[in-house]
Amino acid sequence: MLPNVHAVRLIGAQAYLLVDRDEITLVDAGHVGSGRMLRAYLARIGRSVEHVTRIVCTHGHPDHIGGVHEISAWSGAEVLLHPADSERLRIRFRDVIANFAPGPIVALLTRAPAHARPVVDGEELPVFGGLRVLHTPGHTPGSICLYSPAGRFVIVGDLLQRVKGNVALPNAFFSDDMDEARKSIARLAALDVETILFSHYPPYREDSRKALRALAS
Ligand SMILES: [Zn+2]
Ligand SMILES: [Zn+2]
Repeated sequence: MLPNVHAVRLIGAQAYLLVDRDEITLVDAGHVGSGRMLRAYLARIGRSVEHVTRIVCTHGHPDHIGGVHEISAWSGAEVLLHPADSERLRIRFRDVIANFAPGPIVALLTRAPAHARPVVDGEELPVFGGLRVLHTPGHTPGSICLYSPAGRFVIVGDLLQRVKGNVALPNAFFSDDMDEARKSIARLAALDVETILFSHYPPYREDSRKALRALAS
């Protein structure tokens, strides 16, 4: 793994801890009940949950935001989620009936973070000298990726997956809009990326730019 970047296995998904001096940014929080696993991991690296100052959600699926409630309550960390996914999580039953698809159904069953600050495309978070937020819709309307120019890595959430080891388009069943996803991947292909960090797969670092360009075309 990259220096100061920790992949942490939580319930249902992998989260990332970005350790920048005294501040820790948590990217995604697993399903409900993941807090205990995060605490145990932090203890192993000599830190505690109070060091987590920021929780960034790559998107609003339950395996990514379920643990946000308890971890933000313990740490007082600020929670960041793209407004398009906050909006999606406010969906009502009648909207689901009108648009009966996996995305809306999952959103109806998922509890939104209580006080999420809207994060937007182009925002730069104060992590590793600047961690860029890219709004990359497709898997969900408010999916984001986090790009570190200094570390040459990108955290992609569920915008990408690995199939037989290769970098692949997101899971079509659980994704809202595959055309949007392709356009979002094209944006990633323009970045200087060495390592792709996924939520459900091991990192990819063979020839990341080439793999992204191939998918986007
Ligand atoms: Zn997802
Ligand atoms: Zn996921």
